[in-house]
Amino acid sequence: MVERLQLNPQFRGIGFTSQRTRNRMIERLVEQGIKNKAVLDVLRNLPRHLFVDEALSHHAYEDTALPIGLGQTLSQPYIVARMTELLLEKSPKKVLEIGTGSGYQCAVLSCLVANVWSVERLDSLLEKARQRIKTLNLNNVHLYHTDGSFGLASAAPFNAILVTAAPKEIPASLFDQLAEGGRLIIPVGDEQQMLSIFDKQDGKLMQTDIQPVRFVPLLSGAN
Ligand code: SAH
Repeated sequence: MVERLQLNPQFRGIGFTSQRTRNRMIERLVEQGIKNKAVLDVLRNLPRHLFVDEALSHHAYEDTALPIGLGQTLSQPYIVARMTELLLEKSPKKVLEIGTGSGYQCAVLSCLVANVWSVERLDSLLEKARQRIKTLNLNNVHLYHTDGSFGLASAAPFNAILVTAAPKEIPASLFDQLAEGGRLIIPVGDEQQMLSIFDKQDGKLMQTDIQPVRFVPLLSGAN
């Protein structure tokens, strides 16, 4: 579904950064082990510089996390690519992202799956993300201002849930809102975090640890 972006030729290879800069990012991702061609294609074509403040846009295609305001960060391209690759292994149709932030991960997902729901607790970040998603004409995205530690019961179940902030413990509602055969991808922990996947098979969850990571904390109403 990279076509979603190809419908928007004005966003390809022009603007603040050149297609060559984006291609270099893709070469690095391949060297780092990203294999999924569709994921690489979307990251090559999606204008990451539109998801950060203009003052930072010349860093947008470097392999680094970037501040997006209010103490939150957009993950480095490798982590976005890796989490997306893990998610696509299940060919999900309905995906929930928790922690919309800049909207970049959400935009990546929207090019690769049929429908994306994304929730964010900070309204000002959500509104900026909403504007970016609209500018890119990504019309299969549903954004909600809510506490994602309760998932999004109104649209559940999901074939995949991707959490881009780290809880100390996994909220039970996320397991409940995962469809049979679905996958939860989540960083868990405090200082030390582990990115793990949980596959729901016959009502049971199978955990696989992927790699140590560093995400901002998943905050809930209580903290
Ligand atoms: N996926 C984002 C990265 C976001 S950083 C991107 O592509 O830019 C993590 C985000 O999770 C932050 O925006 C933070 O405000 C949000 N967050 C933290 N706790 C949350 C919660 N309980 N519910 C919803 N969003 C939360």
